[in-house]
Amino acid sequence: MQPVTRFAPSPTGYLHLGHAFSALDAWSRARSAGGRFLLRIEDIDRTRCRPEFDTGIIEDLTWLGLDWDGEVRRQSAHFADYQAAIEKLQALGVIYPCFCTRKDIAGAQSAPHGPDGPLYPGTCRTLPADIAVARMATGSPYALRLDTGRATALAGNLSFREESLGTVAAAPEQLGDVVLARREIPCSYHLCVTVDDALQGVTLVTRAIDLLPATHIHRLLQALLGLPTPDYAHHPLLTDEAGARLAKRAGAPTLRSIREAGGTAENTRKMAGFPR
Ligand code: GLU
Repeated sequence: MQPVTRFAPSPTGYLHLGHAFSALDAWSRARSAGGRFLLRIEDIDRTRCRPEFDTGIIEDLTWLGLDWDGEVRRQSAHFADYQAAIEKLQALGVIYPCFCTRKDIAGAQSAPHGPDGPLYPGTCRTLPADIAVARMATGSPYALRLDTGRATALAGNLSFREESLGTVAAAPEQLGDVVLARREIPCSYHLCVTVDDALQGVTLVTRAIDLLPATHIHRLLQALLGLPTPDYAHHPLLTDEAGARLAKRAGAPTLRSIREAGGTAENTRKMAGFPR
């Protein structure tokens, strides 16, 4: 079967070499096998996304020599799809509202650590429904969390195929009760990615290894929502000469700055290790 791959950046900054690697990886896997390569802009968090970064993504990928199939999917245009998924999960009884602040969570004595920081200690999991509804009605900020334990019990044993690891048994509890939506942002990364990969018919998800723990949660959400499970290939993170991970926040050189300094697309592709 010809693969359908995707590149799914968030427009919260300009693309750097790590993104170029990720995009080229997904693109070349599709193109070399006669498959399809899709572009999805993950712009749900309106407080961090900016239109100039969205335009920048299109310009930078085009400059790199990448083309994609069909329309670009922008998540901000598809809230109804995510809302439908939330309602399905609500009907299964695997979601609860949580009113804890970041400070509450960081200060909780019993918070164990997961791959992405402290796990949610479950404070609001047992909040009686009438109290939760009353607090939501007063306008208190809240997050909708997945009751991962209950959801895992409902879904049973799950696994996914990973290119380097083979068949991996899903262990979603390692991320705890993740946030699926917030009052101000009606769906989270985990939910939108899972729904979109299915709706777009993605058959091979390629992304950096730091998202491997997230894949375990996505597998669980697929089972709960009755969605197909793609194959996964997690690639290593690109690092700078000092071994530090390339990141927007750490000021990794952007494709834009490489271009403005006279760098060519061919050299940039080579720097990212392509063709390989
Ligand atoms: N939007 C995510 C990011 O920019 C990537 C999502 C994914 O590939 O699953 O980190």
